[in-house]
Amino acid sequence: MKKIAILGSTGSIGTQTLEIVRTNKDLEVTALAAGNNIDLLERQIREFRPRLAAVWKEERAAELKSRLADMDVRVVSGMDGLLEVAAVPESEILVTAIVGMIGIRPTIEAIRAGKDIALANKETLVTAGHIIMPLAKECGVSILPVDSEHSAIFQSLQGGQRKALHKILLTASGGPFRGKKREELEHIQVEDALKHPNWEMGRKITIDSSTMVNKGLEVIEAKWLFGVTVDQIQVVVQPQSIIHSMVEYEDGAVIAQLGTPDMKLPIQYALYYPERRYLPGERLDFGTLTQITFEKPDMETFYGLKLAFEAGRRGGSLPTVLNAANERAVAMFLNRKIRYLEIPEIIQACMENHKNIPDPTVEEILKTEKETYEFIKNRW
Ligand code: NDP
Repeated sequence: MKKIAILGSTGSIGTQTLEIVRTNKDLEVTALAAGNNIDLLERQIREFRPRLAAVWKEERAAELKSRLADMDVRVVSGMDGLLEVAAVPESEILVTAIVGMIGIRPTIEAIRAGKDIALANKETLVTAGHIIMPLAKECGVSILPVDSEHSAIFQSLQGGQRKALHKILLTASGGPFRGKKREELEHIQVEDALKHPNWEMGRKITIDSSTMVNKGLEVIEAKWLFGVTVDQIQVVVQPQSIIHSMVEYEDGAVIAQLGTPDMKLPIQYALYYPERRYLPGERLDFGTLTQITFEKPDMETFYGLKLAFEAGRRGGSLPTVLNAANERAVAMFLNRKIRYLEIPEIIQACMENHKNIPDPTVEEILKTEKETYEFIKNRW
């Protein structure tokens, strides 16, 4: 029996993780954490019977607790609740499917408690990769990528020598506005940006995919996960989302992972690594597949990607500024407080305003996040 805990069980990755648990009888859920959706969390608790559950707000936790009076489950709240779920003694692996930098402290807590991490929450590595990766090594735990591109890279690296890795080719769909120029993005509405051509995901990452900031965050995530420099990572637009990423070795050989777009594959691979299991679902049909095409990313229109390369190259606290500014700008856009094109403008203004801290501690990262939010609040 493999015992797992999930941060963000009510979200897109969280619910797909539970679908995998549902079809595999040797997975057991020890603890679940969610933000606000206690209706779904209640149903999940009744079905998967974890011993511990966390809800962000205390009042919502109290409500859930009274609804679950007939069950043997402890309900906790706030950051302490997330930390408890992360380090729950019985679990072996933590799925970090929470969105945003709020994942940093629970991820560190889980690593210190010796849990392997199935990492979806890319914001944690983007901002604190220099802390997380050495800590994982020190504690002897594995960081297993869930992001489809990083899983593809990880899969492509199996069997090859890591020291012979020359380059990472990180694929991107290009999002719903691929091929458009900046002036055509002037009047983009929330509904337009929430329509991803190939993937069904949470709201924040869907907006990030449309601006290509998601790809930028993935560049920084890949830098930490695979121990390469940002300049060893090339973004390749592959609009059909069939190639999920590739690696190039020193001898010029390129190894790729292909498949239909289904997040359950990388989630399941992370949960069972190195084992491969049957996964129901559509398969690639090379009898009907007519083409796989490639393009260069347009870093002038989607300059959030260029800003992410800069942040990843310079490192320190700058990726935190990029990430925090993006988190806040996307939330403002979703609440219809700013225009679509203001998202990269806000990121750029925040990065220009920041004095970089070379090797920030967790406290400095969280302080940088706060200062970035303050800067935005005063200007927008
Ligand atoms: P969703 O928005 O669908 O889900 C986010 C989850 O986090 C929800 O369960 C939400 O709870 C929970 N949450 C939010 N705030 C808190 C909080 N303060 N305390 C506890 N739980 C909280 O996001 P996704 O599943 O799309 O993405 C999750 C992460 O995975 C992100 O970092 C994203 O970049 C990454 N990722 C996602 C992919 C995808 O296909 N969706 C692909 C690759 C990476 P509630 O809903 O109850 O408020």
